[in-house]
Amino acid sequence: QGKRGAADIVVYAGERMAHPTQWLVVQAELRHALERDELVLYYQPKIRLADGAVCGVEALVRWQHPERGLLPPSEFLPAAEQSGLIEPLTTWVLRRALADQREWTAAGRDWTVSVNVSARNLESAEFGPLVVGLIEEFGVAPGRLTMEITETAAIVDVEIARQALRALSALGVGLSIDDFGTGYTSLARLRGVPLTELKIDRTFVDGVLADPENQAIVRSVVTLAHGLGCRVTAEGVETAEVAAWIAESGCDEAQGYLYSRPVPWADVPMMEEVR
Ligand code: C2E
Ligand code: CA
Ligand code: CA
Ligand code: CA
Repeated sequence: QGKRGAADIVVYAGERMAHPTQWLVVQAELRHALERDELVLYYQPKIRLADGAVCGVEALVRWQHPERGLLPPSEFLPAAEQSGLIEPLTTWVLRRALADQREWTAAGRDWTVSVNVSARNLESAEFGPLVVGLIEEFGVAPGRLTMEITETAAIVDVEIARQALRALSALGVGLSIDDFGTGYTSLARLRGVPLTELKIDRTFVDGVLADPENQAIVRSVVTLAHGLGCRVTAEGVETAEVAAWIAESGCDEAQGYLYSRPVPWADVPMMEEVR
């Protein structure tokens, strides 16, 4: 009977969702997942192209679902973003990543940890102070944390977002635009925010060898990024040929299956031998 009640409410949301009931179920389950600590972070190394060394890791969330197994973010992030659960989710990710980063630093690894932040997070005035508080709580050097701003949604309140980003930048936190070239985050809207990295979306990287248009895009992002004083990272590098082209074009860092898939925390120390 309870299920029937929920299904009635869904009618409104159903106008936009393909499977509204399923969506509501995901939302309710995700709430429990956060309480029961069912989320896990995987890490994918970032490679400095100049010398092939691992220079950082990107945290990528998964959900160890009790029945459905390990779920990728595409299965639950949209529901989290639209329901407000993205706030506790991002807080969880930050706490986990900062705790892990503290251990890597203690073990002598001078990596930067990159965390994906939703545009939704940046619209909350509490977000900046929250991150500052967590950095202090975990005692991590701010320069060892980078925020990757993902472009899944247009930032509605740009002024609040700018304030949060400027405060974090002033502390020394790195700021990266993720999936550059595909989303809503235009540089004009983030003017006055000191960015440290542009990440070229893998749709441009993947077909770069065969497609002169992609080559032109990669080259111009490199020029733009360096003009802004940012590093450029190419994501989705799967072959040595693409890696060579990317390095030649002036990209600073690369990520992709060529080097390593995202791996659980326990496998991360092994990543130094990926090359
Ligand atoms: P993203 O930030 O662009 O992350 C890169 C995605 O590409 C990851 O998928 C990664 O596993 C995948 N990938 C990496 N190298 C390769 C490659 O060589 N080839 C191919 N085909 N794929 C590659 P994943 O982990 O499924 O994450 C998908 C997206 O979900 C991420 O895209 C990011 O936008 C979002 N996401 C992941 N974790 C978080 C999080 O903690 N918070 C937020 N807000 N978003 C997250
Ligand atoms: Ca990312
Ligand atoms: Ca990306
Ligand atoms: Ca992406």
